[in-house]
Amino acid sequence: MEKVTRDNYKLVLGLEIHLHLRTKRKMFCRCSADIWEKEANSITCPVCLGLPGALPVPNEDAVKKTQLLGLALGCSLNQNSKFDRKHYFYPDLPKGYQISQYKEPLCLGGQVELDSGFIADIERIHLEEDVAKSFHEGDRTLLDFNKSGMPLVEIVTKPVFSNTVDAVDFCKKIQQTVRFLDIGDVDMEKGQMRLEANISLRTQEMEKKGELCNYKVEVKNINSFRFMEKAVLAEIDRQLQVFEKGEMPIQENRGYNETTGKTVPQRTKEDAKDYRYFPEPDIPPMVFSNGYINELKKELPELPHMIKKRLVQNYGIKISESIVLVDNFGMEIVNKFEEFIKKGLDSKKMASALINKKETHLWTFDKFKDYLQVPDELIDENALRDLIIKVMENNPKAVEDYKNGKESSIQFLFGQIMRETGGKVKPDYAIPLIKSLIQ
Ligand SMILES: [Zn+2]
Repeated sequence: MEKVTRDNYKLVLGLEIHLHLRTKRKMFCRCSADIWEKEANSITCPVCLGLPGALPVPNEDAVKKTQLLGLALGCSLNQNSKFDRKHYFYPDLPKGYQISQYKEPLCLGGQVELDSGFIADIERIHLEEDVAKSFHEGDRTLLDFNKSGMPLVEIVTKPVFSNTVDAVDFCKKIQQTVRFLDIGDVDMEKGQMRLEANISLRTQEMEKKGELCNYKVEVKNINSFRFMEKAVLAEIDRQLQVFEKGEMPIQENRGYNETTGKTVPQRTKEDAKDYRYFPEPDIPPMVFSNGYINELKKELPELPHMIKKRLVQNYGIKISESIVLVDNFGMEIVNKFEEFIKKGLDSKKMASALINKKETHLWTFDKFKDYLQVPDELIDENALRDLIIKVMENNPKAVEDYKNGKESSIQFLFGQIMRETGGKVKPDYAIPLIKSLIQ
């Protein structure tokens, strides 16, 4: 028999990410959603306590914010969507079911491009209510219902990840997107974003054939990106050991113990049929028109992945540099970068200075100009833009040739601009600009 080693077995990983939206009210009642650091059980009503006969009314703002997130992640929005009851009993869910979505979630599909270049496929995004919080004190369990009924989004990916770096990057991109859309704080320490990883191993042969395993282990309630990586690696080790004994891992839920660095069993995984889903009878199905969806699309801001691509295209910097500018430094620095480039600074030199010399983040334009030794007569971006447009109008054939794939036409157009300015324009600055203006 083939020896069991890390090399023979490949990771198959899917993610489930739960996150709280920032809304004024809870998901199905009028209670305030500002529950953080409030006295236990002080923000409740018959609906979020789950008392019999209480009528849930969906929070439209939460629905809209979930749809915005879906659009930002490339999902298609279901024009017909509804809520379902997901049945299980647990002390933090005394009404015996959670209002969730099963067959017709708000968003389907979607993709996220990661820094590695890998594109991660999303299965679905749905909206549900959070449950109460339980505290264990000796042999007693205490319950706080403030969190019960908070709007909770669940993002489910396909089992597409084959390494922890991509999986962690995906989670970070989700957090960044939520913050960019300004629809949630997703503070992991407050439990506003929680991660679960579905983990199995398959042989190289199965990977080649595209076959999945017939089991998966769900590692639940991971509350930091660092623990996510550790938990997955620990679970891979454990499953390898099971295979080494000639056995198969069983389908189950496990938790990650931060102290021992190991995963430990929790209650067994229910199949969908065990939840006995059925349509929530108290909430009518939702119908969304094309017009409504088109209006929502207009509300989307320019997203991080778009900004990164634009910085590369317009200013000729490296993709690795645009990732640092957008992901590590944030929009304040990105805006400063663009503002100073438009005033005439060299984009590559400025990006390099921002990345290698942190003190430059506080610098004024004049200080940057002195540091980068920009000659005073260099023309600024607006003037250069006007000039490029003029040169393009005077040379329609070169523009047409470039559009048809003749790369060298750019050099010709650049040569014309050099002639007009007496050589005051640099190619690494002007050529990306010419390309972006031709498109
Ligand atoms: Zn309530």
